[in-house]
Amino acid sequence: MNNFPLPRIVPDGEALTVIFILLQIEDEGNHGNDETRSFILSSLAAQNQSRVNCVLCSDVMLVFDRYPLVDGTFFLSPKQYNKNAVEVKNEGRALFLNAVCMKCLDGKDADRKLCCRFCATQWDGSSLIMGTMYAYDVFAAMPCCNERLKCNGCQKALMLSHQRLNFYSDYSRKVTCPHCTSVDYHFVKPLAVYYTRQWP
Ligand SMILES: [Zn+2]
Ligand SMILES: [Zn+2]
Ligand SMILES: [Zn+2]
Repeated sequence: MNNFPLPRIVPDGEALTVIFILLQIEDEGNHGNDETRSFILSSLAAQNQSRVNCVLCSDVMLVFDRYPLVDGTFFLSPKQYNKNAVEVKNEGRALFLNAVCMKCLDGKDADRKLCCRFCATQWDGSSLIMGTMYAYDVFAAMPCCNERLKCNGCQKALMLSHQRLNFYSDYSRKVTCPHCTSVDYHFVKPLAVYYTRQWP
């Protein structure tokens, strides 16, 4: 008797997605290294902060000096999602060190589900690695629909609906709108405008 599961036929698109994600982790990971750890700890120490608040539910998270650094994950964004997110310099850019707690990343509790107002897709943070830091905005990184690809100024599409940028971090960068020429972090959107959820 054969107890091994049968190989699953994976559609082409799905297989590509998996490979793409693995490449991204290698390229932009910074996961679990000493540089990331000291970057976070020194940034918080400079503000006398030993805890952070989840940007979604405001729950307090202690920051540890070893991995996992936090019961959730840190991410850098040009947006300060809550007032406790400290300003940091990364590769010459001024960014904010934001954090999301484990339960919100998981998104299993009904009141923690983060769904797009426009296409109803649930934001999925469960694939993010816990206790470390992403060098880009984790909400901007995977646009669910065309609404996420619009200029913050003129509201016209910045690219065609099937087009995507090469890296997750590309969505956290300033881009120039081809229509109105405004330069902004167009893909980084206000959470309350883009997601349905009870906000604290
Ligand atoms: Zn939370
Ligand atoms: Zn959407
Ligand atoms: Zn525009």
